[in-house]
Amino acid sequence: MEVLEKLKILADAAKYDVSCSSSGSTRANKGGLGNATAAGICHSWADDGRCISLLKILMSNKCVYDCAYCVNRLSNDFPRAEFEPEEIVELTINFYRRNYIEGLFLSSAVTRNPNYTMERLVKVVKKLRLEENFHGYIHLKGIPGADEKLIREAGLYVDRMSINIELPTTNSLRLLAPQKERKEILAPMKFIKNQIDEHQLQKRRDESFVPAGQSTQMIVGATNETDYHIVKISEALYNRMSLKRVYYSAYVPVNNHPAIIPHEVPPLQREHRIYQADWLLRFYGFQADEILSPEHPNLDMLVDPKCQWALRNLNLFPMEVNRVSFLELLRIPGIGNTSARRIMAARRFGPVSYEDLKKMGVVLKRAKYFITCKGQYYGMGDIEPMRLKMALLDKPKQSQLMLSDLYPDVFNKGLAVGGAHGLLT
Ligand code: SF4
Repeated sequence: MEVLEKLKILADAAKYDVSCSSSGSTRANKGGLGNATAAGICHSWADDGRCISLLKILMSNKCVYDCAYCVNRLSNDFPRAEFEPEEIVELTINFYRRNYIEGLFLSSAVTRNPNYTMERLVKVVKKLRLEENFHGYIHLKGIPGADEKLIREAGLYVDRMSINIELPTTNSLRLLAPQKERKEILAPMKFIKNQIDEHQLQKRRDESFVPAGQSTQMIVGATNETDYHIVKISEALYNRMSLKRVYYSAYVPVNNHPAIIPHEVPPLQREHRIYQADWLLRFYGFQADEILSPEHPNLDMLVDPKCQWALRNLNLFPMEVNRVSFLELLRIPGIGNTSARRIMAARRFGPVSYEDLKKMGVVLKRAKYFITCKGQYYGMGDIEPMRLKMALLDKPKQSQLMLSDLYPDVFNKGLAVGGAHGLLT
């Protein structure tokens, strides 16, 4: 098979991996320029905010595993291809020289066995670094079950590594990916974390190990875990594995068979809300148990998770923006990291005014219900939670809201709602 033919198949097969930030678009091109759905080159962001274009491909889609949610599963009947390591090296260098890409995102199905696959992946990155003197960005997927020696060797030549957690629980993994074992996924993650820590501790100048850190990907909606479950797992991964990112991928029903897998796409809004909750974990000092709980296990599709938290904790508001701490500012809907830092900086020179807040990037249409500024409140007075929720809706023009949208918990339990009339006007 020609290299270009392989490229077409293996770039397309890589599109389901969302660990590159530009994946997942479905916008169609009706005769215009460009194609957001075409796979092949994706974008990622460096720590300093630079956008990097990456050649995003699989080394092989000839998988010996049969994960029910995956297009590359053994029992699927569709075109298969496999690159030789030398072919990937040549493609990368050629594309780099033509200025098409600045780096490589390389993953692979499990061909023969995890060690065989990982050895070939290592061969690619070693050739690029040692023989081609390539210094561009490399993100490599680690293969669960591969020997630690191979994971370590790969880590010495790549910038970022990721081992996909795939599904939130051991039971889900057993159900949909019976050939994978949870411990075979977590062990290399832990190993990478320990190696990164060790290298940072020793401040080794002679070699670096996964300097851009590790990430993972979790599929959402293929099994019945709640958002609470998912957010708790992400929190544990951030805390115990020091992951840079958990990427969430709304399940795409690529297989009709078998019966154990849903045939419907989970709402994209769910993936969006989980990303927002993840943001609260990483940058806003929230804990998973504050965002959700066994009693409120799913994120509200109508308002973002920070507003949801605020609505459940109205007793903490309003907060006086000129007095509260940085961490408390971060808890106010409409105040982000940047605006909180600006408020703290400005407060050193005197109290900030309501007009100042706008200039600092505070989203006042949300924040006004939760703050006082120089002692003055600009919200709606003694507002009850459901009316406040209406005021905070992501899409305020939405007029056809159902009671079940506003009271999902109540309706899920099949209980009657009393006294809600008048709130939906
Ligand atoms: S091992 Fe990876 S490529 Fe193979 S079927 Fe499972 S998810 Fe797909």
